[in-house]
Amino acid sequence: MELTKLTALELGAAIKRGEVSVRQAVQAALDSISAQNKRLNAFLTVTGERALERAEQLQAGVKHAQSPLYGVPMALKDNICTKGVKTSCASKILGDFTPPYDADVVERLARAGAVSLGKLNMDEFAMGSTSETSFYGPVKNPWDLQRVPGGSSGGAAAAVAAGMGWYAIGSDTGGSIRQPASYCGVTGMKPTYGSVSRYGLIAYASSLDQIGPLCRDAADCAAILDALMGRDPKDSTSLDGPYGNLLHGLTGDVRGRTIGLPIQCFGDGLDSEVKAAVLAVADVLKARGAQVVELPFPVMEYVVPTYYIIAAAEASSNLSRFDGIKYGWRAEGCQGLGELYRKTRTQGFGSEVKRRILLGTFVLSSGYYDAYYKKALQAKAVIKEAFDRAFARCDLLLTPVAPATAPKLGESLSDPLQMYLSDVYTVSVNLAGLPGLSMPCGFDGKGLPIGAQLIGPHFGEGVLLNAAHAFQKDTDYHKRTPKGGEPA
Ligand code: GLN
Repeated sequence: MELTKLTALELGAAIKRGEVSVRQAVQAALDSISAQNKRLNAFLTVTGERALERAEQLQAGVKHAQSPLYGVPMALKDNICTKGVKTSCASKILGDFTPPYDADVVERLARAGAVSLGKLNMDEFAMGSTSETSFYGPVKNPWDLQRVPGGSSGGAAAAVAAGMGWYAIGSDTGGSIRQPASYCGVTGMKPTYGSVSRYGLIAYASSLDQIGPLCRDAADCAAILDALMGRDPKDSTSLDGPYGNLLHGLTGDVRGRTIGLPIQCFGDGLDSEVKAAVLAVADVLKARGAQVVELPFPVMEYVVPTYYIIAAAEASSNLSRFDGIKYGWRAEGCQGLGELYRKTRTQGFGSEVKRRILLGTFVLSSGYYDAYYKKALQAKAVIKEAFDRAFARCDLLLTPVAPATAPKLGESLSDPLQMYLSDVYTVSVNLAGLPGLSMPCGFDGKGLPIGAQLIGPHFGEGVLLNAAHAFQKDTDYHKRTPKGGEPA
């Protein structure tokens, strides 16, 4: 049995049956990490010894295991706090910051019998779309080492695609789970805002940030979300539910479901191979009894500016806590407090983060607040209404995840505005707080994975996962794995 090719649920079942020990699973993942991580730079910290100790503990309880993910090794994006394990946000400013507590999701996963292999590389403070803004160097796409894995959860997507662990936990503020999942050929989901606790997630833009899984398929996604979702009194934006059992609800039956194709998502600027692959998803679901309708969605031109104003505004406020006093790294040889703040922040943050802090401070400043920030909040309400109108007519929406497949390393760094524009299909989902899923739906002529996005109404996770599961029953894109990352 080639362990690293199994899904998380298949591995969990093999562990439960006693065919594979937890230790064997952990060892297989650690071997895969040692063989590949130098090349891919997906892991920033590997906690091998801890994982092997945890494997022994879990093995002792395997007979009584309830969770289908019991004993399955996974890894966490490095903006999720882990007690006693360095959490850097891929930034210099956090230095060797080691949190004294676990994020709520880490506790939930521990209760589900997860084994953590370590922490994953990302764009600095989750700001970026390519995982190139990491202080620790870029992550490489396992399908082609010359290309980016997407971002900001690029380490998470690359690790899952390359078989370095069975699933990963990322965060998504404007597409950071869905877009890297799409570039790396894995399944990823941002659940409804408020359904997964943000306690212990280092904040980028609090009204948009949401934690979610990157994994092999929709069934794994359902099982992981079952473990993650639920009310948490420690997060004031956490919701009461309804939380059902997503895994049990997975039938793959989409008969009678209406799938909307927002016309403005298939227009200019979309690569033709991506367009064809995404539209083919509609055909597969239609063959299974779903109805497909085209819908107007006349807000697409506003989504990127609205998102970047709100995200930058919140980032400028959230990141003011990193000052060299309370956490992490501090500049040396400063005269007085003012210089300490200035030097630490100037040298500790990378340029993309500083660009966002400047932009956010500007849009919140008196005189510009009404023109930019307030306007963006009004636009956000209009975008939400556009979704409400769409969901009055259909059960879910099908769109591309990104306008093209993974770009080459270095291409986006020189043109941040171009990079922001590539977020056009994902950011509106966060602005409206909706669940969104990305799944592999084909490959382009260069052999690079293409992703399709499904968007649902609030707490529509079950409908989304069912549609993705139906698609994955009839296709095998999600089962393909990269060879060695040399260009095809
Ligand atoms: N690319 C978007 C940004 O840079 C989204 C990032 C994210 O979802 N964390 O803000």
